[in-house]
Amino acid sequence: MVQEFFNISLKERNSFGIEARAAALVEFDDTDSLRDYLASHPIGDRRTEVIGGGNNILFTQDFDGLLLHPVGRAFRLTDEEGDTVGVHAEAGLPWDDFVHLCAEHGLWGAENLTAIPGTVGAAPVQNIGAYGAEAADIIESVETLDLRTLKETTLAGAHCNFGYRDSIFKGALKGRVVITAVNFRLSRQPRPNLGYGALAAETASLGEPTLAHIGEAVRRIRTSKLPDPATLGNAGSFFKNPLVERSVAEALKRDYPDMPSYATDSPDRIKIPAGWLIEKAGWKGTTRNRAGVYERQALILVNRGGATGADIIALAEAIIADVRTKFGISISPEVNIW
Ligand code: FAD
Ligand code: NAP
Repeated sequence: MVQEFFNISLKERNSFGIEARAAALVEFDDTDSLRDYLASHPIGDRRTEVIGGGNNILFTQDFDGLLLHPVGRAFRLTDEEGDTVGVHAEAGLPWDDFVHLCAEHGLWGAENLTAIPGTVGAAPVQNIGAYGAEAADIIESVETLDLRTLKETTLAGAHCNFGYRDSIFKGALKGRVVITAVNFRLSRQPRPNLGYGALAAETASLGEPTLAHIGEAVRRIRTSKLPDPATLGNAGSFFKNPLVERSVAEALKRDYPDMPSYATDSPDRIKIPAGWLIEKAGWKGTTRNRAGVYERQALILVNRGGATGADIIALAEAIIADVRTKFGISISPEVNIW
């Protein structure tokens, strides 16, 4: 089934709570319905994008095209291979429901990604990650529908070009396909991954490192540090952490011995937390017009009430310029700016 909306407000459909309107928005609950709809309403030159929960989008203007919104929420176990279990989940399933369902079935692999707002269909797009885990660790394949040819494809995870907050869906396939479902592979074997920050201590405070305890520990840490979009508009981390040349990190470390830094998959690249750079540059807790930098985590830009996309962008640009001047490092947005 599809449902069409025209000239619809997006204020309740983006976590920044920005007022913007879409010329058209189509909700679909399965691939066949979407294919039939697009066959009878070809997108032609119309700008067409997919919106899930709108937790990683900043609207800077009205959307003068077609937004597609998946609402199918099916979740099913597909097969067992040794200790592993295949799971199929439709794009419209809220990500946190997926994580809960995995835990209910005793399946390991998604627990560190508890409480990330959004949908299953968006998870591969930026390869969501938290607490030392990322979606790519458990994605076996991604099912897509081409917006123009209407061809269905199942793309193996190995071909999704997953990287740090990156994938083929932000590159070659951007604006070309809808992700209709994701296939995961999880494990029945307990494999707690507690090496990140306060996670081990918070889990231990609850007891054994069970799926339920790890999920609850992640939820507690997140609730204590991150703003709830329901009360303070935001899209999570506004910027990506820069991955800089090792020599650049070493030079900065001489000037700022307290600067945190982390190894990456590449021996030549060091990750520096953008939140630390922004805080050190003096932006944490500040407000410009109606846009602000969150008091407890400088990586998060917030809507202090009635902000426009332009307010948020002006603040982001000022931060980018200041960080470049002070540290010689270019930081770039993680959030999709539309
Ligand atoms: P949307 O914001 O609707 O869309 C994001 C992008 O994905 C857009 O480009 C959109 O076109 C595309 N897209 C969405 N669905 C589809 C689809 N079915 N097919 C094709 N393209 C699609 N992110 C992390 O990685 N880790 C975190 O820990 C984290 N914490 C957050 C905390 C808060 C408080 C908030 C507000 C955000 C956080 N985020 C985090 C960012 C956000 O949760 C993720 O990016 C999430 O995947 C967004 O899901 P969504 O359904 O809201 O996607
Ligand atoms: P945090 O734990 O205070 O850490 C600050 C930064 O340092 C993070 O960006 C993190 O990088 C890095 N870091 C910390 N410990 C690390 C380790 N052991 N190894 C490698 N890198 C390490 O961060 P936070 O703000 O409270 O967020 C906690 C987790 O949730 C992080 O993984 C973060 O990515 C995720 N999160 C993401 C978003 C988003 O919108 N993308 C929003 C909120 C939280 P990484 O970011 O690479 O982990």
